[in-house]
Amino acid sequence: MNALQRLENRMAQLQIFAKKSLGQNFLISDHVIQKIIDAVVGFNVEKIIEIGPGCGALTDLLKEKFTQLTLIELDRDLIQFWQSQNVNVIAGDALQIEWNFTDEHLLVSNLPYQISSSIVIDRCLDQNKLIGMVLMFQKEVAQRIRAVAQTEHYGMLSVMAQEFWKIETVCEAGPRDFKPAPRVASRVLKFSPRVSNIENPQSYLTFLKNCFQQRRRVLSTNLSSLSKEYDLSLFSEWVIQNKKNEKIRVEELSPLEINSLYHYLRGTSCRS
Ligand code: SAM
Repeated sequence: MNALQRLENRMAQLQIFAKKSLGQNFLISDHVIQKIIDAVVGFNVEKIIEIGPGCGALTDLLKEKFTQLTLIELDRDLIQFWQSQNVNVIAGDALQIEWNFTDEHLLVSNLPYQISSSIVIDRCLDQNKLIGMVLMFQKEVAQRIRAVAQTEHYGMLSVMAQEFWKIETVCEAGPRDFKPAPRVASRVLKFSPRVSNIENPQSYLTFLKNCFQQRRRVLSTNLSSLSKEYDLSLFSEWVIQNKKNEKIRVEELSPLEINSLYHYLRGTSCRS
């Protein structure tokens, strides 16, 4: 049975319709599903968490391969169904539940679009990083996550994600790979943890929020709101040492350079 037939059968069995408010665009491409499963299997782990199993496009296959599967779902009908299938289900909002997963766990999801960037930020803030993540995003969000400096999509999300994760593209998905079809294209990304010298991710996030508050404004002006926590007199020194211009904008700096500036202004060690 292909993915579309599985979806239609299950929706008929459960007598449900896709709920737009929960970002329910169900995957119906066997090709994309297989790419995601292959990326998950490539991590060689036993414990899997899936956000939003929906009607089981990924879950049915994950269940066959992994005995330690935890599902996080918000839709009551689907929670009931998955609870009846002998799987561990956390009923709730993936952004609100207590996140107790560790480096033995891998996260996989065709993410509901409303929560996708917040999920990435949350997973950057975790003290205990997961062993990896395989996540489907709207293409524009995936572009923001992997964007490099001086490009249209570059921003806080790019710098935060790239600080804590090594990110690769797994595959593309078009509107017709989903039912109902969304208006935009999607992309699957694979995240592996990367060693970071940021000890307090929350403070780094606040720093980045300030740096990017108006990305076309000169960075020194954006930084002025941080004068209580950071020694901003060091900004000029950093600019000279790094052969930059005083009037530099944050969008011109790479994630590594922003990391270096953060440590410099805090008076902590610099990355070489
Ligand atoms: N995994 C299925 C698939 O690929 O066909 C469904 C993916 S669908 C894009 C998103 C799923 O996430 C739905 O099952 C939806 O009910 C669930 N969901 C939406 N918001 C959620 C939230 N805040 N926390 C947990 N699950 C959520």
